Amino acid sequence: MDQFDVDLFVIGGGSGGVRAARIASGHGAKVMLAEEYRLGGTCVIRGCVPKKLFVYAARFAHEFEDAAGFGWSVEGARFDWGTLVANKDKEIARLEGAYRANLTRAGVEIVAQRASIEGPHAVRLADGTAVTARTILIATGGRPNRGLDFPGCELGISSNEIFHLERFPARILIQGAGYIALEFASLLAGLGAKVTVIHRGDRLLRGFDEDIRARIVDEMAQNGVEFAFNVTIEGIYQEASEKRVRLNDGRDLFADEVMLAIGRVPNTVGLGLDTVEVHLDEAGAIAVDAHARTNIPSIYAVGDVTNRVNLTPVAIREGHAFADTLFGKHPWQVSYDNIPTAVFTEPEIGTVGMSEQEARAQGWRLDIYQTDFRPLKATLSGRTSRTFMKIVVDQADDRVLGVHLIGEGSGEMVQMAAIAMNVGATKADFDRTMALHPSSAEELVTLR
Ligand code: FAD
Ligand code: NDP
Repeated sequence: MDQFDVDLFVIGGGSGGVRAARIASGHGAKVMLAEEYRLGGTCVIRGCVPKKLFVYAARFAHEFEDAAGFGWSVEGARFDWGTLVANKDKEIARLEGAYRANLTRAGVEIVAQRASIEGPHAVRLADGTAVTARTILIATGGRPNRGLDFPGCELGISSNEIFHLERFPARILIQGAGYIALEFASLLAGLGAKVTVIHRGDRLLRGFDEDIRARIVDEMAQNGVEFAFNVTIEGIYQEASEKRVRLNDGRDLFADEVMLAIGRVPNTVGLGLDTVEVHLDEAGAIAVDAHARTNIPSIYAVGDVTNRVNLTPVAIREGHAFADTLFGKHPWQVSYDNIPTAVFTEPEIGTVGMSEQEARAQGWRLDIYQTDFRPLKATLSGRTSRTFMKIVVDQADDRVLGVHLIGEGSGEMVQMAAIAMNVGATKADFDRTMALHPSSAEELVTLR
């Protein structure tokens, strides 16, 4: 060991890096972790957590409206963006502190600096300090794709900036139709903004089940979100206090802010990867095997920088498996089967396993069970939103291959469905499970 300053040097204090550092240290390794911005990474600082807090804020708008049907009068409800941002900032600072405390308690040395790689065992910190490490873990995550090149594209903001806007964007254009574009379109509309989603295609959420894709556009439209399909932005021009956005069909739209949510790219630039010839894949992500190994034996990578499944629980588990395998004499691999995911739109989407289209394309013979119903709460609230559920089943052995939900509580429900699928549940297993009444989830065990 003495040949190196540390056993493990982790670059990046986000979901994957923090878990790996903490577990490796618990196994007795001497660990140093460099974070150039804020501990907690994308998820905690400018991703999942602040986003979900904003989602909660937005949902009150519906709750206030729905309350009338239940006898409440909610008068004078007013939303204050400054309060939401300030309270969110306080909570994020608290979480950041908790991450720091946990790492310190675990014995990890934290350096608040950018780090880059100078050799298979050599790291250089921004202040010039050289550190040698037996093993280097790259957990630098990703960043918003800013790879558009049109006049004024620098006037567009990304998800990084939206969390800190001083003024609420009363009119916003959002380019993209993935998770980030749709979540922010929904939540900003809920908070009262006039939102237009600008998409180069005519279907939202590529890769999701087609029924979900069709329904989400109708539901979001009912909630006031407008869509401009089959167009892209050609230019953004600041005109007095507003932005004029030129579309490639010749139209001009006007807004306070323009958000570009066209995907994320792995953070590999300036990391020194070329000096040690770490292989990247065609998307510029670090290529790794099932044990997070790069082509350089002492260098590993986990999380979004490897661009496999870009979700926080996946990065965390990859970091954990790496640390157990290398430092805990307990080798294991992450299973990428049945990863549940939610899109926190209004209404929410929950999905796990194969879509009907994906399963058919792979040659499966399927039974499809689905339902579309008006949730009980809507009978008094008067809301027109419907809940849709689909179960994709292997005709040969009755095994559930996919569950796709849209409606209130879909994310919570699909987490449980993923457990069932992981133990190989069949449709018959769903059917013999007693329903919990009255709930939306009971529909999953009563589908015929
Ligand atoms: P990150 O969390 O990005 O951490 C990487 C860290 O490395 C960063 O802190 C960065 O500052 C640091 N870093 C980079 N380069 C260097 C360097 N050279 N030196 C030192 N430090 C460096 N996932 C979900 O599962 N659920 C959600 O609801 C969800 N919502 C999201 C919402 C938004 C708006 C975004 C952007 C993402 C969301 N995600 C969500 C995805 C999730 O945030 C990521 O998958 C997760 O954070 C990846 O973890 P990571 O450790 O790979 O990288
Ligand atoms: P996504 O990959 O989900 O969506 C990108 C969108 O941008 C797509 O609609 C795509 O269109 C469009 N697009 C891509 N390139 C261009 C271009 N050059 N011009 C115009 N449009 C373009 O990325 P996001 O940024 O929304 O999210 C990144 C990842 O972060 C997600 O995939 C997910 O892994 C994670 N995340 C998870 C969340 C959750 O779990 N709830 C929430 C937020 C993020 P097309 O469909 O035509 O390809």
